[in-house]
Amino acid sequence: MIKRSTGKEDAAMINQQRMIDQLLELVQIDSPSGKEGAVAKRLEEILTGLGMTVTFDNIHEKLGTETGNLIATLKGTTQGTPILFSSHMDTVQQPGESVKPVIDGDTIRSDGTTILGSDDKAGITAFIEALQVIKENNLPHGDLQAVFTIWEEGGLFGSKYLDYSLVKAERAFVLDSGGPIGSVTNQGPAQDKIQAVFKGKAAHAGVAPEEGVSAIMMAAKAIDNMKLLRIDEETTANIGVIEGGKATNIVTPEVKIVGEARSLRNDKLDAQTAHMVEAMKTAAEALGGTVEIKTERLYTAFKVEKDTPLVKKVEEIFAAMGIEANIEASGGGSDTNHFNNNGVPALNLSVGMEKAHTLEEHIKVADLVKAGEMVLAIIKAHA
Ligand SMILES: [Zn+2]
Repeated sequence: MIKRSTGKEDAAMINQQRMIDQLLELVQIDSPSGKEGAVAKRLEEILTGLGMTVTFDNIHEKLGTETGNLIATLKGTTQGTPILFSSHMDTVQQPGESVKPVIDGDTIRSDGTTILGSDDKAGITAFIEALQVIKENNLPHGDLQAVFTIWEEGGLFGSKYLDYSLVKAERAFVLDSGGPIGSVTNQGPAQDKIQAVFKGKAAHAGVAPEEGVSAIMMAAKAIDNMKLLRIDEETTANIGVIEGGKATNIVTPEVKIVGEARSLRNDKLDAQTAHMVEAMKTAAEALGGTVEIKTERLYTAFKVEKDTPLVKKVEEIFAAMGIEANIEASGGGSDTNHFNNNGVPALNLSVGMEKAHTLEEHIKVADLVKAGEMVLAIIKAHA
C-alpha cells in the first residue's frame, strides 16, 4: 500500500481535549496586568516539564510588577532557523478576575460576568499543545523560544522593557490577535500618550469673574482647535479623558486632559502630536493661563513588507494547511511592535479569539485547535 500524504497529519496529532483543559486551567488563574506571578509560576512548571529551560528577566524591579517576562528555550534537534512564539500573560480588567469558563456547544466563553482571557491565554495554549505534540512524536525542530510577557494590556510594557539579550530567535510569531485563523498583522501603529494640565486662576464666578482665568475654557479652546479622530488613513487621535471643576460659582483653576494619537508612520505621529501640543499652548496663552504637557511615545510603528521571506513563509504554511493568509495592518499596538523595533522580525497571528476585552469574549474550539495546528506547522516549517 502506498502511504499518501493527506495534509491532515498535523490535525490528527493535536489533542483537542488537552487544549481545552489547558485553556480552562489558565483562564482560571487570575493575571491582571502587573499580577502575573501565579500564572508565570504555573507556566514555568509546564514548560520545564516539556523540557524547556525557563528564565525570567528582572524588569519587575523597574515596573513594580509581581514577575518579569518569562523566556523559555529549547535547543533544536536540527540547524533550522531559530524562532520564537510570544503571548502575553496578563488580561484586562473588565472585570478580569475569578473567571468561570463555560463550554457552550462548540464555543468556550465566560459565564458573562467577566472576560474570558483567551486574550492571550489561547496563544499560550496553542504553543504548549504544539510543543506537547513535538515532544511525544519526537519531531525534529530548530531552536525554539517562548516569550510570555507581562503587562501588555494598556501600554505594551513587558515587551518594551524585555531583556532582548535573552532573545536568540531570528523570527518571532506573536500569537495575540483575533479573527479567522490565517489573519496576519504585518503593520502596526506608533502611539503617543498626551497628558496636559491647564492652570488658570480661581475666582468667585458671580462676584469677581474678571479676576479668574478659566482652565475649562482653555481646555475647550485647545480641543476645539485640534484635528481629532480620523486624521488620515494612517493616523488617528482622540481626547479620551477630561477632568476638572467643582462648582458653578467657581472659575475653574485646573483641568486635566488625557489623549492619544496613533499612526502607522512615525513621522505622521510626530506631526499630529506636535499639532495637539501647539493647540494646547496657544489656548493657554490666549486666555492668560499656563499648561503643563507630558507626551510619551508608548511604542513606535512597524511594518514587515509583504515580499520578505518571513511573510512568504507564513503564506506557504497557511496554504499547506488549506487556509488563505490575510495579511494586513492593524490599528492597535501589540508586542509585535517591540519585537520588530528590537531587531526581531515579527508578525502577529490570529489564534481565533473573538470580542476580546468584553464580557462576550469567546473562542470556538475548532479555532483553538487550528491555532495549535498553526503553531505546529510553523515549527515544522522551520525545522
Ligand atoms: Zn492581547
